[in-house]
Amino acid sequence: MIQRTPTGIEAHLAEDGRSWQQHLSESITSPEILLQRLGLAPEEWLSGAQAGHQLFPIRVPEPFLARMRHGDPNDPLLRQVLPRQEESVRMPGYVRDPLAEDRAVQTTGLIRKYRSRALLMVTGQCAVNCRYCFRRHFPYDEQRLGASDRRQVIDTLSASPEINEVILSGGDPLAVNDRLLAQWAADLSAIPHIRRLRLHTRLPVVIPQRVCDALLKWLSQTRIPVVMVLHINHPAEIDPATRNALGYLRAAGVTLLNQSVILRGVNDNVAVLESLSETLFEAGVMPYYLHAFDPVEGAHHYDVADEEARTLVQGLLARLPGFLIPRLVREEPGRDGKTPINLFP
Ligand SMILES: *Cc1c(COP(=O)(O)O)cnc(C)c1O
Ligand code: SF4
Repeated sequence: MIQRTPTGIEAHLAEDGRSWQQHLSESITSPEILLQRLGLAPEEWLSGAQAGHQLFPIRVPEPFLARMRHGDPNDPLLRQVLPRQEESVRMPGYVRDPLAEDRAVQTTGLIRKYRSRALLMVTGQCAVNCRYCFRRHFPYDEQRLGASDRRQVIDTLSASPEINEVILSGGDPLAVNDRLLAQWAADLSAIPHIRRLRLHTRLPVVIPQRVCDALLKWLSQTRIPVVMVLHINHPAEIDPATRNALGYLRAAGVTLLNQSVILRGVNDNVAVLESLSETLFEAGVMPYYLHAFDPVEGAHHYDVADEEARTLVQGLLARLPGFLIPRLVREEPGRDGKTPINLFP
């Protein structure tokens, strides 16, 4: 089934000589080092970074850092990971669990909001901590899956014939080792009514080395189709190593989609969004969702109002073919699926 060339992936890994596990454990987790590596003045940025770091720790892997412009505090990649003073400012209307996921937990690790799809949180860990993340306050420790929870999840899903798709999520599901993921894929695809397996991940983007032989092996051997929804917000996130990694995933038969969040100072610009869609397509990834901002506490400085988001997508309609236009949506607690935002109200 697998169509990729094994030599290709070895060449790709050799470029930098570090495994994804090394990159994961050697990520930058200190405000001082992040500023120093990018040549940014501590007098200006350190106190905000430290305050934010106390609320939600900094985490930036080296391959992602390497794509940022040195000395530019407004770099669109850096802006996603460097806490600013604004994080510590409480604003009315910005809450800890904007999507009410706490209430949707069905059994440990299993979040059930929609009829046909269930979300399985296989880990709380991420490879990068994005400051605007709507799960930044989620109580992951309560959702850690032990062996008996695993059994419980499989039993629950087996007894729920209306669920036809399981979404591995987190955290970032690809932060988990391939032995465990292969086991999940085998167990889930053995349930007769499960027709698709989906992964929501940012890892192939921030650490392209994650697309290793072991991952490609279980992906290509899974009995049911695998869909991977990446999370890329700006075209500069896609460098040659990422493009290669995405090519290997495609060759392993994985359908690649992308979701972005509209973010002030990152992609609140029609030319950037146009370039993002074009760059994704060139890398074999179809734009899927553009999420309206979720009002999470500590991230109000990223908020883009619906009206402005609408104008941006209207701009895309004039510049791109329909298949490269992401759907502008919002997640609203209690709905049957994502809510489309009407472009011409
Ligand atoms: C977004 C989301 C999904 C997937 O929704 P799709 O519209 O199928 O992409 C599933 N479960 C939860 C809890 C979600 O937030
Ligand atoms: S990788 Fe995804 S889940 Fe993790 S912090 Fe970023 S947005 Fe949140």
